[in-house]
Amino acid sequence: MNLTEMLALLKELVETESPSSDPAAVQAVGRLVAAQAARLGAQVSAESGGQLVARWNASAPGKPILLLHHMDTVFPRGTLAGMPFRSDAEKTYGPGVLDMKGGIVITLAAIERLRRAGALTRPLVALFTTDEEIGSGSSRALIENLSRESLLALVLESGLLDGAIKTWRKGVGDFVVRVRGVAAHSGGEHEKGRNAIEELAHQVLEIQRWTDYAKGTTLNIGVIRGGTVENVVPAEAEARGDLRVLDPAEAPRILAALKALRPHLPGTTVTAEGLLNRAPMPFDATMKITYEKARQIAAGVGIDLKAGGSGGGSDANFIAPLGVPVLDGLGAVGADYHSEREWIFTVSLEERARLLEALLLNW
Ligand SMILES: [Zn+2]
Repeated sequence: MNLTEMLALLKELVETESPSSDPAAVQAVGRLVAAQAARLGAQVSAESGGQLVARWNASAPGKPILLLHHMDTVFPRGTLAGMPFRSDAEKTYGPGVLDMKGGIVITLAAIERLRRAGALTRPLVALFTTDEEIGSGSSRALIENLSRESLLALVLESGLLDGAIKTWRKGVGDFVVRVRGVAAHSGGEHEKGRNAIEELAHQVLEIQRWTDYAKGTTLNIGVIRGGTVENVVPAEAEARGDLRVLDPAEAPRILAALKALRPHLPGTTVTAEGLLNRAPMPFDATMKITYEKARQIAAGVGIDLKAGGSGGGSDANFIAPLGVPVLDGLGAVGADYHSEREWIFTVSLEERARLLEALLLNW
């Protein structure tokens, strides 16, 4: 595929809208991808939840390299009307161009180039999932199982604006704090009440203080609810928040601290629960070796491969804790993902295909 052909395929994928909440729509992308993979000689199979697996050279010696993609986007059906696919020499726009339909095109182009050169000889497995944007509930086990069998996992999520790949990602969790107080008439029997909102305010201030930028730990209470009407002392209040950690040791510390929350006001109770949905992918010893190897291979084809990271999670967060070498952010380069402005640098499609081709050939 040359750049014109890559853009034509990207247009087709983007114009097949695929919100995570609409499995039939995501399956339409699956059919397009399956046809492309079959054209390139893959054995294609559909797994539960609509996950698509394409295998090349399954009987060749050695462990495969896993290429990981998701076909769903955050954009509801109909978004395309106000945010059409469009492309010029500099930038290409449309729902999912960056996250991550561009990445799907890059993989297919790299495999086609290897095949044309007679260099597609090693075992490769490409997985295309359906639910990354809503937590990968139906695809996580398959991602983990395929990763365990692999030499290396390459995730085609978007690259950073300077072209850097993602060599660390924060772990992502959420939590809820619930307070119970005692309701009372705010005029006649104010003193009988135990104000759950007042108690929650103490808890909110305490939890926000656990943020530690130096360690990469953040807590964000994003939603609070409580009370019923102005003239009743509120008996209930609740706060919901988002937790991000870079250091794997930080998650147990925060989750234990949530459990240990105690009320400040007599007569109220506080309960809290939290869960780390995605473990962090730290820049650890394995990552250092993996990145260094990729950097050298890239340098061999004239690409200066930089390392960066993201506070957001991806399916790479499921792979890193297994000890399997993984690199993320190998997809298209652009910005403003999940927004109506989402775009990529048009030429990044070709540059990333060249990078991926080199990695698959030389790893
Ligand atoms: Zn994504």
